[in-house]
Amino acid sequence: MTATQFVKALEDEGVDVKEYRSWRTHNRNHKGPWSNVNGVVIHHTAGTNSLALCYDGMIGLPGPLCHTHLAKSGVATMVGHGRANHAGSFPTNAFNAMLNESSTHPRPSGPENVDANARTYGIEIENLGNGKDFYPKRQYDAAVRWAAAICRFHGWSADSVIGHKEGTTRKIDPKGPIGDKDGPPFDMNQFRRDVDARLAKDEKPKPTTPSKPSTPTKPAKPATPAKPVVDLSNLIVAARRDPDLKQGGTTHPADVKIVEAALKVEGLLGASYAKDGSFGSLTRAAYSAWQRRCGYSGSAADGIPGKASLEKLGAKRGFKVKA
Ligand SMILES: [Zn+2]
Repeated sequence: MTATQFVKALEDEGVDVKEYRSWRTHNRNHKGPWSNVNGVVIHHTAGTNSLALCYDGMIGLPGPLCHTHLAKSGVATMVGHGRANHAGSFPTNAFNAMLNESSTHPRPSGPENVDANARTYGIEIENLGNGKDFYPKRQYDAAVRWAAAICRFHGWSADSVIGHKEGTTRKIDPKGPIGDKDGPPFDMNQFRRDVDARLAKDEKPKPTTPSKPSTPTKPAKPATPAKPVVDLSNLIVAARRDPDLKQGGTTHPADVKIVEAALKVEGLLGASYAKDGSFGSLTRAAYSAWQRRCGYSGSAADGIPGKASLEKLGAKRGFKVKA
């Protein structure tokens, strides 16, 4: 996205954004590519007052050292746009888990041969990184919003977001308690769940500028088309019955088609099966993968839709659930 789109996406997500020096044209593009960007990397600064450092860099590692610096106050300051020296190289297994939005992010292993600076956005969260310095709630919340804004803009899931420590064994960030000194440790799985929860919120936060009392000349907003409705009970019947029917047999094809389309957009169901309206074994498997992505396991991820996972899918992919 462009620098202007970046700022707008963050503001739309409720992030308090500031712009620093010539950040819009500050990058390392003369040293290598910044293209096919498809991931988001979370860092801690391991210091204090790191804003200028993030912009300028240091001897041997020129700035920008990230795209955004996030203060303890929750203020996000833009320091670079384009290639930045934040991630270094990742091994293929860690990079691919991010690229493919895998629901699990394996421990990085193998040669670090992927240029992650070319492929990712990065945020430096102000924190000493000593495991004791805590991330105030407002700072953590701003980090979640920052990552969600990028994912929402690109249509990515939260599994496109990793911690630097998940991209390489060279790093430990982000580290430290959340909320207060006795808070839970910075856990990237929880962070991704928090990003997912934000992405599930369809509505954008209200703009902070008060609207004028009357704006008669303003054209009315075009009516948003009504969202399709999926009947949960129909879906459950289809998910139980269709796998045993003759190939492609259907029970409630209208409801199933809506869910199949959403699973396809999530990358969980192949296009050729996404329109048949049959909740067959492949659709069951795809829905089971969605449930695991939602954090369920075992029999709670058996591919038979439940209310919560279906509502989550609907909130993200534009349908309503009748339960
Ligand atoms: Zn880092």
